[in-house]
Amino acid sequence: MQRENLDKLNRKFEYLRISVTDKCNFRCKYCMPKENFGRDYQFLRRDELLTFEEIIRSVKIFQSAGLKKIRLTGGEPLLRKNVEKLVEGISSCSHIHKIAMTTNGSLFDKEVAHKLKESGLNEITISLDSLSEITRKSLNSSNINHSKVMNAIDLAIQHFGFVKINMVVVRGINDSDIINMIDNFKDSRIQLRFIEYMDVGETNNWNKKRVMTSDEIIKTIKQKYSLIQMTQEENATAEKWKFTDNTAELAFISSISKPFCSTCVRGRLSADGKFYTCLFSTEGYDFREILRNEQNDEKILTFFKSFWGERDDRYSELRYFDRNNKNKRNKIEMSYIGG
Ligand code: SAM
Ligand code: SF4
Ligand code: SF4
Repeated sequence: MQRENLDKLNRKFEYLRISVTDKCNFRCKYCMPKENFGRDYQFLRRDELLTFEEIIRSVKIFQSAGLKKIRLTGGEPLLRKNVEKLVEGISSCSHIHKIAMTTNGSLFDKEVAHKLKESGLNEITISLDSLSEITRKSLNSSNINHSKVMNAIDLAIQHFGFVKINMVVVRGINDSDIINMIDNFKDSRIQLRFIEYMDVGETNNWNKKRVMTSDEIIKTIKQKYSLIQMTQEENATAEKWKFTDNTAELAFISSISKPFCSTCVRGRLSADGKFYTCLFSTEGYDFREILRNEQNDEKILTFFKSFWGERDDRYSELRYFDRNNKNKRNKIEMSYIGG
């Protein structure tokens, strides 16, 4: 890796999370509360979205700067029509080793699973915060039948051999579901991932008191199960643990209690083509403009390198030490920037 592909804190660029739509059919309280994302909310217009061709061209350009891994997200990525065509295009990029998708699972049926697998998707993550219909309805505010998401998990295992399940733990709402989730998903083909509730965006009314830290979650689990910590992979954002009597893995994403900014190799591309160097950025770099007006890919690469070289983001670390909330900023919504 050449020196010029490192940011100011010596971090490479290897991983891009692409939001393919800012729309969603769920209204999770911690992400798109229905009070703020109501009928009159202005989502992006179709002509504002990057086309699949524009996204694929961006990925091809970013490969030369070190990009290796893509996650398709949103909003709800399966609301974007023919998203498998995008997967197919990205999978033809020779430097991309892994294409993953995060979905709420509500639209993931047998046909979708088959098409995504055939187009080259490598991994799927399904979000599920509780097994209780009542808790899920209060947290995710959707009328989608719970059995659809459970069915999506089974289909993901059948087609991909493995599935990750994301559970955002919000104290006082679904922390009592932790053990139940483990009882149900303790399986070597499933990695259950506990995510600390984050202060993304400005609409979710985040309150630190609602955060259950990974250490607290692990302590809760240890009351029933015996766990051992696994060796940390390079640049991994998740801390992994496994059961002493089983090969199933658990992962903990602790961006509040143990920030991992020093190893953050991730960028984010919003559905309308803004590049963000941090989940908590307040402004993005306009890629759609340059993609639509510049024919020369080298010039676009130079544009990318110029701002990656200036990157010094470490919001979670600053938040961690910021007792007086001096780093408060107007943050961008998760559904738009790509969770
Ligand atoms: N709609 C898809 C889904 O829910 O899987 C993909 C987009 S969603 C923004 C991606 C992930 O971000 C989900 O697993 C969701 O639970 C997580 N997420 C959203 N808001 C969050 C928050 N405030 N704190 C922690 N995780 C959050
Ligand atoms: Fe939609 Fe995912 Fe956000 Fe929930 S977390 S509102 S499913 S984008
Ligand atoms: Fe990366 Fe920003 Fe999150 Fe830190 S706060 S880990 S720099 S996205």
